[in-house]
Amino acid sequence: MAGALVAREPGGPGAMQWTDLATPEPGPGEVLVAHRAIGVNFIDVYYRSGLYPWPEGPMIPGAEASGIVEAVGAGVAGLRPGDAVAYVMPHGAYRERRVVPAERLVALPAGIDPVAIAGAMLKGLTAQYLVTASYAVQPGDTVLVHAAAGGVGLILGQWLKALGARAIGTAGGRQKAELALKHGYDCVIDYKADDFASEVARLTGGKGCAAVYDSVGADTWRGSLKCLRRRGMFVNFGQSSGMIRGFALSDLAAGSLSANRPVLFDYVAERTELLQRSSDLFARILDGSIRLDVSATRPLREAADAHADLEGRRTVGSTILVV
Ligand code: NDP
Repeated sequence: MAGALVAREPGGPGAMQWTDLATPEPGPGEVLVAHRAIGVNFIDVYYRSGLYPWPEGPMIPGAEASGIVEAVGAGVAGLRPGDAVAYVMPHGAYRERRVVPAERLVALPAGIDPVAIAGAMLKGLTAQYLVTASYAVQPGDTVLVHAAAGGVGLILGQWLKALGARAIGTAGGRQKAELALKHGYDCVIDYKADDFASEVARLTGGKGCAAVYDSVGADTWRGSLKCLRRRGMFVNFGQSSGMIRGFALSDLAAGSLSANRPVLFDYVAERTELLQRSSDLFARILDGSIRLDVSATRPLREAADAHADLEGRRTVGSTILVV
């Protein structure tokens, strides 16, 4: 049997109920993975709560995990039982064992912590495409990141520093701001206490930022646009405070701005791209430019508490569910 957290309909954290499922058999091109660790992400909350479209039937949240190959189906090359692997998507990771298409798995190189990486496949690959593809950060650029002490935020700060950018972060409270300062940010604004747009204007001498990475959405997007330099790039990649409403294309006329609303899956849908971005991430971890701090670990069965903390803004960095 393989225990899983199953939600039968959208709801609060308690909508996920522990359920014993039969251990699946891997079919052709598939691999049975015994999970070791699973990352908790805001996207799991969006699905569980019904903000994102509900799939057919019951739903198991979870979009990143690591584990050990237990069995491989017909036609799978390059993976054997006992291999350490990790993946980002497909959704459904909150369970002890699962079958995953072999083409979604990435073999873990020696030196990568198999537990910490479970919280950095989705978050780390997101940071990777944000700084290389959504806006290709250049040395010397000044860039603003909201929720800098969050899971994606702590990785982004370190990546920006490694690229030679000046990273300004925002965080909800002094303690979070101090943590972000230890993860690559040059300055961090407590946006609960201060107006971040005025602070960014002060910190940049009125010039503004080359890019703003905004995952907070409803509460921040108007201020984010004000933080951009001429022809700057607004990257909205999430909505922790709620969906953006009322945005008009003409808002971008204030400085010939650009905007994009990227989704990780579109940057790792092809296997070659998944492998190239993963190897970039692993190289950054192995050369020490990105440190993966696990801020909290919980047994898989306590995922509901992890969701409540994430939604309540009580977490920093990455939370891992261990099997
Ligand atoms: P975080 O650890 O960043 O947690 C969310 C943070 O958002 C909170 O800790 C809080 O930080 C901040 N926040 C601000 N307002 C609110 C609010 N009203 N309610 C809750 N949180 C709030 O989460 P993740 O690292 O998992 O994800 C970060 C964001 O990135 C999410 O929006 C997620 O959807 C997005 N994402 C998007 C991807 C994509 O490809 N588009 C892929 C991966 C993640 P503080 O207290 O400091 O304000």
